[in-house]
Amino acid sequence: MSQLLTKQTIYSYLQDHEQDMLDDLIEFVKKESPSCNKELVDECGTYLTHLFQCRLDIEHYEVIKETKVGNHMKFTIGKGEQQILIIGHFDTVWEKGRLKLKKEGNKLFGPGILDMKGGIIQSLWAIKAIQELELPLNKKIVFLCNSDEEIGSVASKEYIEEEAKKSEAVLVAEPAVAGSGALKTSRKGAGIFKLKIWGRAAHAGNHHEDGVNAIEELAKQVILLQKLTNYPKGTTVNVGTITGGSGTNVVPEYAEADIDLRVSTEEEAKRITDIILNLKPLSKEIKLEVTGGMNRPPMVKTEQTQELFECAQAIASELDIELEEAAVGGGSDGNFTAAIGIPTLDGLGACGKGIHAAHEHIQIDKLAERSSLFANLLLKL
Ligand SMILES: [Zn+2]
Repeated sequence: MSQLLTKQTIYSYLQDHEQDMLDDLIEFVKKESPSCNKELVDECGTYLTHLFQCRLDIEHYEVIKETKVGNHMKFTIGKGEQQILIIGHFDTVWEKGRLKLKKEGNKLFGPGILDMKGGIIQSLWAIKAIQELELPLNKKIVFLCNSDEEIGSVASKEYIEEEAKKSEAVLVAEPAVAGSGALKTSRKGAGIFKLKIWGRAAHAGNHHEDGVNAIEELAKQVILLQKLTNYPKGTTVNVGTITGGSGTNVVPEYAEADIDLRVSTEEEAKRITDIILNLKPLSKEIKLEVTGGMNRPPMVKTEQTQELFECAQAIASELDIELEEAAVGGGSDGNFTAAIGIPTLDGLGACGKGIHAAHEHIQIDKLAERSSLFANLLLKL
């Protein structure tokens, strides 16, 4: 079969099965899976394992057991020498019952439908198309579905890195850039810190002068922290939450803040982390403690990632899809794989809008298109 004919065959196969993809996705989204609820995440994982087994010819699968977070699953498809890793997380940021599943025209709304259950279903169907159409897949595919991405992938990170090291390339089925549908070739790195401040309590009326105000110190530190932001460098510091004090008539003894750091380079990650971890009290008699650090390293675009993107772009143009690339601020598990030097292409999942927001939805008419892009990319690599 000619290459163009193959592309058309895959696309029409997936278009013909759009309703089946949707049905699978709806069932998957109905199995709600908030990261911190192991029981629910595991139920969702069991459904996903069943779905993979029903839809695909699987060489091997493994449930990676966890005690605190949900179990992860690893599916191996095909027998080739070289390996391609696909990563997809099936946990979501949504508490059970928070969002309703609903369809409005071309939009399908639901918890985690875009981030990133839609991407997992698209990728699964891409492989199904290859298998059903008996197209030659020369590579071994490892499809790793992890359960804790939205809470930092602390448990799954080692498995992701382990499989990435054995792979030629990593494809991440996270959502495409909202609006443009662009792929993500670089992402900022992210860090989380906690600042704790202790002063001394005193009666605000009788002994104001004896108190050491922890909130006043926190206020000064917040301004200092926010000033570390440098947009041209791509560095942002966000003091996201503060708490402290015990009552209006008490000089506050304690205050704390949670801080989010985003950086574009490893160098900047180190520089700012050093500053934050070494904050010193600005007022007398204050005690201060900072904990935390980088959670995900920056995903910096390499030449190999560029080649991978150009390969996807060439396939897209034959499918009449205009495909761009973009650098984004949010992190994903692609940050881990890129940081250990494996070419990583991210944003290959569903198109839509509203990740982590109440209007989270996918564009239904892009499902078959993006799935066929993914299938062709797997064949080409
Ligand atoms: Zn995600």
